[in-house]
Amino acid sequence: MALECRDGGVDVKCSLCGAPAVFERKFSGIKLCRRCFMRSIEDKVRWTIGKYKLLERDDYTLLAVSGGKDSVVMMHIMAKIESDFPEASLIAVTIDEGIPGYREVGFKIASKNAKLLNIPHRVFSFKDFYGYSLKEIVEIAERKGIPYHACTYCGVLRRKILNVKAKELGVTKIATAHNLDDEVQTIFMNIVRGDVNRMIRVLSLESIKHPGFVPRIKPMRLIPEAEIALYAYFKGIDFYTVDCPYSQTSLRNEFRVFINEFEKKHPGMKFSVISFFEKISNLLLNSMPPLQLKECKYCGEPSVKDVCRACELLEELGLLDF
Ligand code: SF4
Ligand SMILES: [Zn+2]
Ligand SMILES: [Zn+2]
Repeated sequence: MALECRDGGVDVKCSLCGAPAVFERKFSGIKLCRRCFMRSIEDKVRWTIGKYKLLERDDYTLLAVSGGKDSVVMMHIMAKIESDFPEASLIAVTIDEGIPGYREVGFKIASKNAKLLNIPHRVFSFKDFYGYSLKEIVEIAERKGIPYHACTYCGVLRRKILNVKAKELGVTKIATAHNLDDEVQTIFMNIVRGDVNRMIRVLSLESIKHPGFVPRIKPMRLIPEAEIALYAYFKGIDFYTVDCPYSQTSLRNEFRVFINEFEKKHPGMKFSVISFFEKISNLLLNSMPPLQLKECKYCGEPSVKDVCRACELLEELGLLDF
């Protein structure tokens, strides 16, 4: 949490360098000045990349950047890390789903930050790729009485474009900006839904080796959302805070509130959940046969079934262009 500089009339000092502290990390009790706080976030991302072997020295990494705080901060930190590895390179990609009044703001910010960091930036849209914007897809689904929420189409169709464009661009990794809170919420959601299959699928995704599948990495997965926001604030990074008109008051939001309350009472609980889940994951993955992917019979993209999820959704809408 951000600190008052004085505590009971006594200056609060940075535990690392003795400068005035601006932040206290409750679960460890460490107090940090602005400079040490920012360095601690960057070091954590470096540590995550090393621990999980997320990157090779010569990776060409696609940064999926929406313009929200997590992805813009990821772009800044990855640019800093990449500058130490002359053989590595980055490209920022924004997907324009076609959500009126929402994504326009995001890609202006993504583009401004990419320019600032000297990272090439590309935008790919649902409209160009699939022939329909998300808004049009949602309207068609409503007319046909198909009960899926916009987020189902958005997530599945976005992941497919990213994989296809990553291959066209020749990148070797796709980095997304999921943070610690996102990861913990997802774990709870899968537990509450009793969705073991989905959990196994997500786990297996990280170990997939398939020539048509570009590996995904999450370098920010151990950084709490609040610390990303504070990093952005200290660094003066622009990001947008407009809510997507389709965002639902969902199970994820209920978990966000519950998990944050619980973390306040029991600092460090989010890390404990991640660590517990990792241990279980290793046991599960070691006892499972590796996930075998086929090629979708319509589009050729890697798929667990004969038809990939994106083509399945489009087929149901009558939008698959044979
Ligand atoms: S809230 Fe749903 S529809 Fe909106 S950008 Fe996120 S996933 Fe897409
Ligand atoms: Zn300090
Ligand atoms: Zn397909």
